Formats: sequence, structure tokens, C-alpha cells
Amino acid sequence: MINHHPDTRLLNEYSSGTLPLAQSVCLSLHLNYCEQCRRTHQRLQQLGSALFEELSPQQVDDSLLRTVMARLDDEQEPLRYQSSGNGGETDARPPLVQRLMHGDYEDLDWRNLSKKVRVSRLRTGDVDNEFALYRISAGASIPKHTHRGTELTLVLEGGFSDEQGHYEVGDFIMRDAEQQHTPTATQDRDCICIGVLDAPIRFTDWKYRAVNPFLKLQAS
Ligand SMILES: [Zn+2]
Repeated sequence: MINHHPDTRLLNEYSSGTLPLAQSVCLSLHLNYCEQCRRTHQRLQQLGSALFEELSPQQVDDSLLRTVMARLDDEQEPLRYQSSGNGGETDARPPLVQRLMHGDYEDLDWRNLSKKVRVSRLRTGDVDNEFALYRISAGASIPKHTHRGTELTLVLEGGFSDEQGHYEVGDFIMRDAEQQHTPTATQDRDCICIGVLDAPIRFTDWKYRAVNPFLKLQAS
């Protein structure tokens, strides 16, 4: 049961293609789990194309046309929502995650943030936004932290709670800059979630502050 969704502004930016790539990937993954947002996304796309049809045609010169055609030829398969072909909601790992991971969770290069929290960065091609998997051992917490920008989170396995609520597989959470929180995994199993940050994370507990330069190094 999905209880936490992206807001309409974010869905609208996703549907119109203006969301940064890493955030767009995170939102695509939520669509794998959430029929309600898939429907909204479809409606926004239909609305967008109806508005596009109403635009009056513009004259373009040959060089612009050639540039556009060349870019279409170069275009790689975009990192967008893909149906898993079996209804989506029962699939443990959406196809997009499998594509970014190139293997299993165990094959990734995990770094310890603490004894019970590990992080593995994945490449999306977006240089401005960090896209990473966080693995929190059952019952453990990510140290209290703030971030300078937006933090998007999507739960892939298990679940966690923070000061604002409880989140399970497929739930999408957006935190603004300076909102402090301490995510804690449920007691029964490890939690794996995706975190997308548009500015480096900052731990507010003194004992974790030494980790901050490491994270900035990782983000560069
Ligand atoms: Zn949703």
C-alpha cells in the first residue's frame, strides 16, 4: 500500500521533462509501484500534448533542423519509467534500477557511513544530483542530518520511519533544505532505499561530522 506520493508540481515537471535527470529517475521508479501517479502522469502528458497542438508552427532554418535531427540520432534510450510487464507493484526491483545497478545488491561497491548504514552511488549521468542507494540494517538509523538542497527518497526494500511518518516499498518522500530528520529502519529487516540529493548531506551530530568531508569528496 503506497501512502506517500510526489506532489502535483513535481509530477508536472516530470511529465513535461523539465525535472533534473536523477530526480526524474527517482520519480519514474515511484510510478513502477503507484497506479494512482501513473494515471496522473498520463493525464498530464495528454494535457501537455493538447497544449502543444495548439501552438502555431514556427519557421526554422536548415542549420537548426540539422542540429535537432542529429540530436535525435544521438539520443540514447532515456532513463524513464518502464513497465515491468507483470503489473509493476509486485516486482521487487523495477527494470530501471536493474539497469542502473548492473547486477545484484551484493555486487555493488558499498561504503560504510557507520557500522549499520552503507551507501553506494549509482551513475545516472546527472552531475548536479547525487543518486545513491542507502542500506540501513534492521532497526538502525541514518544519523540526524540536514541538506542544503532537496532530498528525494524512494523505498525499494523493507521500510523506515522518521519524525514525520512511516514509509514502505514504493513510498516517495521529499524533504526540503534544513528539515532535520533521522530515518530508522524497521526492526524486522534491512531497508534499502534510493536517495537523490541536489547538495551534499550534512550530519548534525558532532560524532558524524568527520564523515562530511568524505561525502563531499564522493559527490565531486
Ligand atoms: Zn504515487
